[in-house]
This record gives sequence, C-alpha cells and structure tokens, in this order.
Amino acid sequence: MSAQILRGGTVVNVDGQRRADVVVDGDRIVDVVASGVDVAGATDIDVSGCVVMPGLVDIQVHFREPGGTEAEDISSGAAGAARGGMTAVVMMPNTTPAIDRVEVVRDVRAAAAGAPVDVHTSSCLSVDRQGERLVDFAALYAEGVRVFTDDGDVLADAGLMRQALEATLALPGMVVSQHCEDPSLVAGGAINEGAVSAALGVGGRPREAEEVIVARDVALARLTGGRYHVLHLSTSLALAHVRRAKRDGARVTCEVTPQHLVLTDADVERLGTNGKMNPPLRTHVDVAALRQGLVAGDVDAVATDHAPHPPAAKARDLATAPPGMLGVETAVSVVWTHLVSRGLMSPSRAVEVLSASPARIAGLEGHGQPVAPGSPANICVLDPTETWRVEPATMASKSLNSPFAGDTLTGRVRLTMRRGVIQHQLG
Ligand SMILES: [Zn+2]
Repeated sequence: MSAQILRGGTVVNVDGQRRADVVVDGDRIVDVVASGVDVAGATDIDVSGCVVMPGLVDIQVHFREPGGTEAEDISSGAAGAARGGMTAVVMMPNTTPAIDRVEVVRDVRAAAAGAPVDVHTSSCLSVDRQGERLVDFAALYAEGVRVFTDDGDVLADAGLMRQALEATLALPGMVVSQHCEDPSLVAGGAINEGAVSAALGVGGRPREAEEVIVARDVALARLTGGRYHVLHLSTSLALAHVRRAKRDGARVTCEVTPQHLVLTDADVERLGTNGKMNPPLRTHVDVAALRQGLVAGDVDAVATDHAPHPPAAKARDLATAPPGMLGVETAVSVVWTHLVSRGLMSPSRAVEVLSASPARIAGLEGHGQPVAPGSPANICVLDPTETWRVEPATMASKSLNSPFAGDTLTGRVRLTMRRGVIQHQLG
C-alpha cells in the first residue's frame, strides 16, 4: 500500500489541537507535518476544515448476534459503527445464547472477522446471566475477554459481586461492568419514576434504584481493591458515589450515554417507546450533573448502549415495548451538537471520552492512541460544522428506533480509517 496523506485538517488529540497533515503508511501513522508540506508519492485525501482525531471507541453495544438478528447483526451493527467514526466496539453478552463461555466468544469472533470495525465482546459475569454462578473468568480472559458484565440485568448478589471483583486482582486489565438498577425497585417500571410516569400512568423506575447498586458496588470495589465500571450511569445520585469512590482511591470508572446527556423523561411523551430505555431518561438535574461530570472528569467515557429493536416490538405501548435505542451512528454528532459546538466541552475532552478513555477501560490495545507518528492508523475525520438530518431508514442498522429521528445535528463523520484502510467515507 502506498502512503496516504490526510490534508488540510485540524489534528485533535487529548492534549490539544493544531493544523497539520497526517501521513499514513501501511497500517501506521508515520508523520504529522505542517499543513501543505509535499510528501512524495503519497495519495492525497482532502479533509479541509475537518477535525482529524483518533478512531472512536464504543464500549457498550448490543449487536444482537447470536439469536436476535432480525433486529441487528454484527455486520449491520459494525457498518453503523464505522459510519459513526468508530474503529472498535465492545459487544454486550445478553444474546441468545448468552456470551458466557469460550465457545460462544469464538463464534462471535468468527462472525466479526470481516467487520469494518474491531468487534470485541464482553462476557457475562454469571452463567447464562442467571446471577447464581460466576463464569470461568480465567478461561474467558485467556480467550481475550477483558470486560465482564450481566448487562441488561444487574448482578444482584453482593457476595458474587465481591468474588468477581476479587478475580480482577489476578487478571490485569479485567474489569467488572455493572448495569446498575436494583431489580426489586424497578420491577414493573417502564420509565423514570416521577411526575411524568404518574401523568402517563406507567410504572416508574426510581433514580434511587441506581444509587443503591452503585453505592454498594463502590463499597465492594474499595473492600476488594478490584476494578469496577458503571455502565450507562444516569443519575446525579449515583455520580456522587462514583466521585467519592475515586477520591478515596477505589478503582472505579463510569460512562454515560449521549441520550442521557441530552434527553429527559419529559421527552418520553413526545418520543413514545423510542424514549424508553434502561436505565430510563431522567431529569434536568441529572442531565446537568452528567454534563458537568463529563467535562470535569468524574465521568470517564461516553458509550452508546446501542440497542436495536424491530419496529413491531417498539410499536407496542410504553409498558410492554422493549427498552433501548440506536446509538452508534449518531453518538459523536449528538455530543458535538449539544456540548462541543456550544463551547461546553473542548474537542480534546471529546477525544478523551469518546476514544482514549473507553479504550483504556476495556483494554483495547491499538485504539484510543493519539494521532501521532507510530500510532496505528485508526482515525475519525469529522466535519465540525456540517449539519445533517437523522433519518433512521438510511442508517446501516436493521432497526429504526432512534429518538433523534428527524433532528438536525451539527458535526458529521466524513471518513473512518482502521489500520490505514478507509472503512467509511462520505462522497
Ligand atoms: Zn445496560
């Protein structure tokens, strides 16, 4: 492969930004040079006016394979991720069968072999996500799995959670990720418990259902010294526990979703079942706290919880429709529109929370590296001023359930390169 040069853009890394051209040779970035410098023999790629940043990393996606491929499969999910500027994703294990043993991990890896992004998978914490018996951590770790979670459900048993956290001490890079909702508090609930759930006459899921699990788990992380990550944190209440745990030196991280940074339960009336997800959309108080935490560093990462469902399933009523929404194709644009382009978050911080930090949390070597000589050529090129309208029917997903349908977003991914090969490019 001959050298390629991304010309005319602004390179944004965690530590700052500057106008520069990026030279890629083979699967590596070999040089970052002053704009306009001649590089003999290189193929020019015009990225004028665009941001050139590390490929994005999404550590919480549901690609529904195996078992749910009428909603999504690894191929369609990964195609959407590439269009969203991502070069690596981590699948959640709540598939059918559940990803809880080496054989299923190998099946997933085989299905992901030709995907345009690196598709990694997590494993369940407990066998078949039943919360009764822990999986064989050592065997799955040896197979390359680093993230363990019963996502979709919480691992409710505190004793098992303690054992899982203790297991991380012997397996470097292993992390226990938790879907933090107490099952006895959210049973029968469809959306956030409050004035909106009361007005709509549907069962609520209280904010405290998240708080009690996070409070318990960070205490166990402190007790064990184990490594713990909060999936899709949604409340100011839980964030306060994470903040304190970090201050106390516990090995705790957390992520938020784009939707929890911009939507509230008041939007559910307008969105219908596309606004139903677990944890649910919360309140303005929570949105403000999550935004502030993301900018300040208390929140470590943005992850989408990309959760496709077929239209027929989402056509049911709020109480019975399945929770979740599409995310991979809109994530960076939602963050850009609502935070970066409004000056609430710097482009460098966006790179941290959308690429560098999630790659570190999930142990994805080769991703989240700076756009700099020697790094793998995993790159996202985004036009920060281009506006576009979200039209789910034109997306790569097999499903349509985006709450951002019809919205106009600012900031659009123009090109995604993985290890020197363009995986997505707008004409
Ligand atoms: Zn979850």
